Amino acid sequence: MKILVINCGSSSLKYQLIDMVDESVIAKGLCERIGIEGSKLTHSAAGKDKVVITKDMPTHKTAIELVMEALQDENHGVIKSTDEISAIGHRVLHGGMKFYKSIVVNEEVKDVIRECFDLGPLHNPANLMGIEACEAAMPGKPNVAVFDTAFGMTMPPKAYKYAIPEEYFEKYSIRRYGFHGTSHNFVSGEAIKFAGLDPETAKVIVCHLGNGSSVSASIGGKCVDTSMGLTPLEGLMMGTRSGDIDPAVLQFIMNKEGKDINEMLNILNKKSGALGMSGISSDFRDITNAAEAGNERAAITLDAFFYRIIKYIGAYAAAMNGVDAIAFTAGVGENDADGRRKICESLSYLGVEIDTAVNKVRGVKTMISTPNSKVKVMLLPTNEELAIARDTLALVK
Ligand code: AMP
Repeated sequence: MKILVINCGSSSLKYQLIDMVDESVIAKGLCERIGIEGSKLTHSAAGKDKVVITKDMPTHKTAIELVMEALQDENHGVIKSTDEISAIGHRVLHGGMKFYKSIVVNEEVKDVIRECFDLGPLHNPANLMGIEACEAAMPGKPNVAVFDTAFGMTMPPKAYKYAIPEEYFEKYSIRRYGFHGTSHNFVSGEAIKFAGLDPETAKVIVCHLGNGSSVSASIGGKCVDTSMGLTPLEGLMMGTRSGDIDPAVLQFIMNKEGKDINEMLNILNKKSGALGMSGISSDFRDITNAAEAGNERAAITLDAFFYRIIKYIGAYAAAMNGVDAIAFTAGVGENDADGRRKICESLSYLGVEIDTAVNKVRGVKTMISTPNSKVKVMLLPTNEELAIARDTLALVK
């Protein structure tokens, strides 16, 4: 059984075709600059050379058509016809309060994705375009929506409610949702298996540290708290996002600089975080290199990034009255051994002890805590595409 996984951005479309017999990736690729001049498709099939196809893609529909051609091409293709694709799994950013889990798409589901455009203005319209493009290209094939917000929907009200007048929750569903849910769900589940913990009671903290970063706390695989909020702006400091901030800072800067709220949010989303603080880059490798070369702002930026992670882990360990496992994932979490070491050194009060030699590993599932450590600490590569494919398979089987 083959599942096609689609992740649509406003001008991009990432795909993977996964053989669910052994969960191997048969082909994957990326359409870039959809709707913009100079669009191209980069396609790679297992065991074959990567190909770049430069062709106009005015819409996501034409992009999907091109992907279908690439998948069936006699040279770089991997299937004879789309009949070999059993279903399509789509990453959808926001499911609002309606969706607690993945679901087979019908008109009602599409209406809800549309209703959530306000909550995910950059992603939800693109996600819906991807679904409709697949419906047109492969009529009758099941499409499954896998929501980034679904994992956070098990949070109790004390964790998801903002301390603002209740009418805003009632009228507009203003609450904390959390994002990176597919990754947190996948990694927390893998952490429980890897550490041999009780799947009903295990207390797990997942640190998804990449360009976007978030921390989640789960008990028995169910999310009890997570650091992102109504939007992905809340929580940790990130590549370009500020994370938690006193809202009065917005008013202060807006008054001083004559900016409106849209400009201000653009600054907090795109020009803040590690980029704004370091003045160097949003890429943590650049900042690490600069810090190593003696740049003080870069060093402070890294310290601030790790400090906030340490605080969130402490808060979640307290909220759960303990923690059995801590898992690091995503670009920084999987590759930055020094960062993991710095974080773990500040968790000795929890009984965390890591093997610094073993911790030097990159991108490979590894237990980095010592046998004596009270908390199992691990590096667990995330795989959102596989998680989407697994959910899709489970719903269409
Ligand atoms: P992601 O968003 O998960 O793709 O993660 C991207 C981030 O991971 C970028 O900021 C990269 O600089 C960062 N990253 C990748 N490798 C390393 C590394 N060895 N040390 C520090 N950061 C890294």
